[in-house]
Amino acid sequence: MIALSNYVGGSWNAGSGDAKSLHNPATEEILGEVRPGGVDFAAALHHAREKGGPALRAMTFGERAAMLKALSKKLHEHRDELIEISGSNGGNTRGDAKFDLDGATGTLAWYAQLGAGYGDRRHLADGEGAQLGRTARFWGQHILTTRPGVAVHINAFNFPAWGMGEKMACALLAGVPVVEKAGTPSALLAYRIAQLVVESGIVPEGAFQFIGGSITGMLDLLGPMDTVAFTGSAVTAALIRGNKNLIARNVRINLEADSINSAILGPDAEEGGDTLEQFLGNVTVDMTQKAGQKCTAVRRIFVPEAMVGMVAEALVERLRSTKIGAPLEAETRMGPVASAAQLRDVRAGIDRLTEVAEVLTGGSAPMSGPGYFVAPTLLRAKDPAAPVLHELEVFGPCATIVPYSGKVEEVVDLCNRGGGGLVASAYSDDRKFLEPLVHGIAPWHGRVWVGSEKTHGQALGPGAVLPATIHGGPGRAGGGEELGGLRGLMPYMQRTAIQGDRAIIGRAFGDETNP
Ligand code: NAP
Repeated sequence: MIALSNYVGGSWNAGSGDAKSLHNPATEEILGEVRPGGVDFAAALHHAREKGGPALRAMTFGERAAMLKALSKKLHEHRDELIEISGSNGGNTRGDAKFDLDGATGTLAWYAQLGAGYGDRRHLADGEGAQLGRTARFWGQHILTTRPGVAVHINAFNFPAWGMGEKMACALLAGVPVVEKAGTPSALLAYRIAQLVVESGIVPEGAFQFIGGSITGMLDLLGPMDTVAFTGSAVTAALIRGNKNLIARNVRINLEADSINSAILGPDAEEGGDTLEQFLGNVTVDMTQKAGQKCTAVRRIFVPEAMVGMVAEALVERLRSTKIGAPLEAETRMGPVASAAQLRDVRAGIDRLTEVAEVLTGGSAPMSGPGYFVAPTLLRAKDPAAPVLHELEVFGPCATIVPYSGKVEEVVDLCNRGGGGLVASAYSDDRKFLEPLVHGIAPWHGRVWVGSEKTHGQALGPGAVLPATIHGGPGRAGGGEELGGLRGLMPYMQRTAIQGDRAIIGRAFGDETNP
């Protein structure tokens, strides 16, 4: 059994307090334990501020980019070992594990490439300068500089590798030291990654610290130059947003919370056509990949009434043929959910949905044998307006078909009842349908993914988060924004307007310093 340690202040410490067990969710075997206490938060922050921060800020963007590239390579070298841990402690199939791990190394590598383009710079010009005086002599230029603080990253259990990797990539490239907190149920993978990062010596001392146990008390010690980036449930997000110290000191907070994501089938999709095929394929992947435990997974499937029977039949067939079982066996396509608590929540959620929807396949009944398995569950809404459909995130392999008339204004209204989402996907080749749809739902979503005949087989589905475009969403989804190229560095940098003689500030800080 592995006893998780925290890496703080330059050494590993075992933590203290009552141990929480970490399980293999397929067998319920105990694999490890983590203790919530024993971390001197003030000392950890001091270490980051006094050691890690100055070391990172002394590096250029190019040097930090090279560090990210080396980190990506290091983790990739251990891919096979990490896949095994992801399968045993996370319940991930080989495909799910690669999705998480390659997402982490791919995002680190992507930001390495972006940063390399900024070469020997330590600040960035933000846009073009502007004349501020009577003549162009008095000039203004916005610049971005690294905030001399700490990035506290709180990650959800479902993406222990990607969640840590994508946050780290942005903060470290910006020059800010990180404290990484892992979601408990799957913490063994995050812990092994932390060991590899520390052992490699790639990141300067103090620039990377790792906490497996609780981090709550650390938030009370943060100051105005620090940033909290959180991923997890809306309930925890609200607790963090309400933290008195974070409010009083205006600490920057970026929240990524849950989301009732949608897939919308346009009335023009034809049976046997590529657009419909893409829709069916993506919905099936979303429902079964990582046993539906993706923040971007589809929860509501909007289908024109006339097509509901055909769509339901096709999805039921695909879901029933999904091979469920021991995650690391080659033929397994879906593993268990991550923990006993997760299993309880998913079953209870399915039961609540069945009050307003009919079960077409799956359901909340326990599956035979040990492990936290749930059958892929597809429901059909009896009343499309029932609030629970639009408000309850069942974080497992479960989604509901919601029939609509085929009218765009109706599906816009239903879709936006989710209260703000990470992603909505739309499948249609009809611009007259797509344009008002995208206009109608874009303000309520961080990402709109449009599938049409020509995109079939061209790209990863809407569940995949890519570093070049933003991840996050308004309202219920947390109101945050991550990634999106250079935008991903903004939580860690300060935008300042420098005003003065153009001959001085234009040359020192202006456009010519941009690549
Ligand atoms: P969670 O229970 O909210 O926990 C998220 C993280 O917050 C964990 O590291 C947790 O630590 C920590 N935490 C719990 N209470 C805290 C507190 N009072 N102060 C500071 N940190 C605290 O969420 P989860 O169950 O891990 O993840 C599932 C949820 O995450 C789903 O709702 C899913 O939609 C959402 N999610 C969103 C995104 C996104 O990018 N928007 C991505 C992935 C998942 P412990 O584990 O030790 O409790």
